[in-house]
Amino acid sequence: MDKKLFVISGCSGVGKGTVLNEFMKRNSDDFMLSVSCTTRKPRPGEVDGVNYFFITKEEFEDCIAREKFLEYAQFAGNFYGTKKKFIKQKFEEGMNIILEIETQGALQVKKKMPEAVLIFIAPPGVGVNELEKRLRGRHTEDEDTIQKRLEAAKTELDRAKQYDYIVVNDDISRAVNEIEEITKKELSQNA
Ligand code: 5GP
Repeated sequence: MDKKLFVISGCSGVGKGTVLNEFMKRNSDDFMLSVSCTTRKPRPGEVDGVNYFFITKEEFEDCIAREKFLEYAQFAGNFYGTKKKFIKQKFEEGMNIILEIETQGALQVKKKMPEAVLIFIAPPGVGVNELEKRLRGRHTEDEDTIQKRLEAAKTELDRAKQYDYIVVNDDISRAVNEIEEITKKELSQNA
């Protein structure tokens, strides 16, 4: 059976990490999580080569120039990217690969590899109106910040429309089951 690339994105705070960890616990024999390169500094406990390959901005720019990335994007002031070579190696090892990346990079992957499967994890009550209600209800952000966050959320949700699947994380176990069904269906189409 051919191996596939699955791309998972979702707004921050949506519980994407928890869902993915649970998925990997159940499916580590057939799936592996890609390790990205980033110019962000490691957080306490993060290990180079495990969580990310932590590289300098110069190294990152050199990789861009030499077209080493399948996709890359800037996010909150840092660069993040997936190396083509990493993906090629993992496919050769016979694994299905999961990229946990933001939406800009995900859409670059879809352009280059239309057979990649894009899954967006959305919070329950995904609309911008709902989000605006929540942001205003917190009374912690000023108007300018609220507008910026709403703009960012609109862009994310707009891009999510181009994904193959949207999974609502109303319950972790249910969301993981749904992702398992999607991967099974996609892999059987491949067989
Ligand atoms: P964090 O700094 O919290 O680890 O990640 C910030 C954002 O970057 C998350 O949305 C994460 O999904 C995204 N990200 C991580 N690796 C990559 C990558 O290789 N490419 C892209 N485009 N986004 C990434």
